[in-house]
Amino acid sequence: MKKPKLRELGEAIKAVFKGPYTTKFPFQAPDIYPEFRGKPEFVEENCILCGGCVNICPVDAIEVRDIINDDGTAKRIMHRDYTRCIWCSMCSQNCTVGDGDVFGDKSGIKITNEFDLSTLDPSTAQEQIESELVLCEKCGKPITSKKHLLWLAERLGTKAFPNQTIFITKMKELGLADEENGIPTDELSREDLNKVLCPECRRNMMMSEDWSF
Ligand code: SF4
Ligand code: SF4
Repeated sequence: MKKPKLRELGEAIKAVFKGPYTTKFPFQAPDIYPEFRGKPEFVEENCILCGGCVNICPVDAIEVRDIINDDGTAKRIMHRDYTRCIWCSMCSQNCTVGDGDVFGDKSGIKITNEFDLSTLDPSTAQEQIESELVLCEKCGKPITSKKHLLWLAERLGTKAFPNQTIFITKMKELGLADEENGIPTDELSREDLNKVLCPECRRNMMMSEDWSF
């Protein structure tokens, strides 16, 4: 057996008195740098539930769940599974309403310093927020969240006028439009112009109106 060198012996004696270099986690909290990118969390007051972060997440940890109830009400859920998340921060950095700063206060997802999510029960490593979902008044298919449409109306200003779905949603929010617009008919017609329609129904309506298709 080789004899330890003097330097190694010195280090070993020093370590006996100085203690280990590693922290005693989980019994003692480690020092975390403020820039450490840990657990992402939805910021309910910022997030418009547009679903943009679903497309950016490299591991499909985020999911959009549209729920339509029997009574005609509907909600959109943004759900995150932390058992898949790799804490890359891409969702926060590329959030529709954010400015690219993952530690700023604009993004719909904030990056926290939290890192210890160890659990034996994966159902506790989930997160979700929900908000009202807007349905097409003709076919009943989901369009997007109401918050998303109102955000678009805000951003577009007067440029939102040609898009009846955005414009009418904003008018309803302001109490300037009735919940029911136009005369309900089975077929798509000019009356449907002033309804909240999904892109498919609006296209079909325009085609049948303008081109009789
Ligand atoms: S606002 Fe941002 S966090 Fe919310 S769904 Fe859209 S992209 Fe995701
Ligand atoms: S931090 Fe990365 S992996 Fe986690 S949810 Fe956001 S984009 Fe997906």
